[in-house]
Amino acid sequence: MQDIAHHLQAVRQGINQACCRTGRKPDEVCLLAVSKTQAPEAIRAAHDAGQRDFGENYVQEALAKIAALADLPLTWHLIGHLQSNKAAEVSRHFHWVHSVDRLKIAERLSATRPADLPPLNICLQVNIDDEHSKSGCRVADLPTLVRAVVRLPNLAVRGLMIIPQPGNEQAFAELVQIRQQLLQTIPELAGLQFDTLSMGMSADMDAAIRAGSTMVRVGTAIFGSRSVSQ
Ligand SMILES: *Cc1c(COP(=O)(O)O)cnc(C)c1O
Repeated sequence: MQDIAHHLQAVRQGINQACCRTGRKPDEVCLLAVSKTQAPEAIRAAHDAGQRDFGENYVQEALAKIAALADLPLTWHLIGHLQSNKAAEVSRHFHWVHSVDRLKIAERLSATRPADLPPLNICLQVNIDDEHSKSGCRVADLPTLVRAVVRLPNLAVRGLMIIPQPGNEQAFAELVQIRQQLLQTIPELAGLQFDTLSMGMSADMDAAIRAGSTMVRVGTAIFGSRSVSQ
């Protein structure tokens, strides 16, 4: 548990350094601690070290932890693939969903979001490598999806998310371009807080921040046993 605090400190330092090198402010980049497979005690330790945003991949596993840690002021992000039959539970218990890649899921999340909660923050996951096997909306289909999703009443469309193939650091700059193109061609986005680029993990956080990431999703470097390179 002591390790978690140290690892968190090192990751935050890495974010600060990457920001410094590119003239960005460290508070432009939110650190999402990816806690999949980690016990609630590990999440509690990260909280005690100042961490507030946590990312989970599997809905059932996450719901158990959200319940176990209900006494803490945490912000929960679903970053894993979402099946539509789980949408109602997700819209009730999470603050963000990063993996929205089709209209049906977005519609279910909006329809089931409880009326006493603010709109659910969502990112649209983009299949940046155009691989058939992976989740994510194809780049060519993105404008149509965005136009439909911005109309849904109980969602706040916050930005875009990618999981590029290892080594494809070009993808980060591409996502920055895609966001700008959407802003230029879809007038409805102008009035929204469409400001999030969820990209960068333990191995490629640095490159993602240099390209313009506003939210890095870091698991192993915080919770894993592998030591963090400075
Ligand atoms: C597991 C996971 C991460 C974190 O990966 P690490 O390499 O452990 O930092 C980030 N994003 C998604 C979508 C993940 O599934």
